[in-house]
Amino acid sequence: RIAYVNGRYVPHGEASVHVEDRGYQFSDGVYEVCEVFGGHLVDERRHMERLQRSLRELRIREPMSRKALSHVLHETVRRNRVRNGLVYLQVTRGVAKRDHPFPGDEVEPAIVVTARSVDPRKAGRSGEKGIEVITVPENRWPRVDIKSVSLLPNVLARQQAEDAGANEAWFVDPDGYVTEGSSTNAWIVDRDGQLITRPADFGILRGITRTVVVELAEKEGLKLVERPFTVDEAREAREAFVTSATKLIMPVVRIDDAVIGNGRPGSIATSLREKFHTLAELDS
Ligand code: PLP
Repeated sequence: RIAYVNGRYVPHGEASVHVEDRGYQFSDGVYEVCEVFGGHLVDERRHMERLQRSLRELRIREPMSRKALSHVLHETVRRNRVRNGLVYLQVTRGVAKRDHPFPGDEVEPAIVVTARSVDPRKAGRSGEKGIEVITVPENRWPRVDIKSVSLLPNVLARQQAEDAGANEAWFVDPDGYVTEGSSTNAWIVDRDGQLITRPADFGILRGITRTVVVELAEKEGLKLVERPFTVDEAREAREAFVTSATKLIMPVVRIDDAVIGNGRPGSIATSLREKFHTLAELDS
C-alpha cells in the first residue's frame, strides 16, 4: 500500500508525520472520507466543498488547489489499485513548536491521503443483516458541523457500542432527541412511511450521503421531513437506518433493547441502498 504524505507517495508502512504536527498534539485538523465505487470517487465535489468549509471554519489554509488535490486523491486510489473501498484525506495546521495559538504563516498545512479496498460482498452482507445501535448522551462540543479529527467522544461511544455487542451509537441530546451516530447520520421511517432526519443546520455533521439520500427520496416520491426525532419515536418506528460514505445506507434493526419493525432491514432503507449509486456523482 502507498500513502501520500506532504508531497510524496511513500510505502504505507513508512508513512509518518512529525511528532510536533498540530493534528497529533491538538487534534488541530480536518478530514474527509470518500467512497470509491468501481474505481470512481463518489461525490468528490461535495466532499471537497465540505473540506473547504471545514478548513475555513478553523482558519487553516488550503494545502493546494482543488485541482491538485483531486489529482492526489485519484493518484492515491490508482496506486493502491482500489476498485471498491475508500479514500481518506486529512489536513492539519502543520508542524510547529507546541503552543496553543496558531503558528506563523510560514507554517504550511500538512496533508495525508490514504486509500484502501473494502470487500463489496462483506459490505453487502451487513446491508442485508442490518446493524444494532445503542444510545448514549450527547457529550460532544457544539461545532460538530466541522469535520475535525477531534473524535474522542465518537471513539468512546463507538467502543461502548462494540462492548454492548452493537455496531453504532446514537448521541441523544438532553431533550431526548437523537442528534446523529458516532460516524453516521440517523434516520427513521414513521408508521406513515415518512422519512425523518434531523436538520443539518447545527448539532450534526452535514453528511454527504445524507444530502444524496434527501435528493433520492425526493426523486422516488417519498415523503420526507427534516426535523429532530426522539429515541422513543425511533424505538416505535417502522424502520431506521444510518447513512455515511463508508456504510452508505445501512438499515438499523435494533435500538437499545427495542427491535425495529420485524427485526429485519426495512423495505424503504433497502430500496434506497440499492438505488444510492444511481444518484451519487461518480467521476474519475
Ligand atoms: N456524522 C458523523 C459524526 C460522521 O463522522 C460522519 C462520517 O464520517 C457522518 C455523519 C456521515 O457523513 P458522510 O455521509 O459525509 O460520510
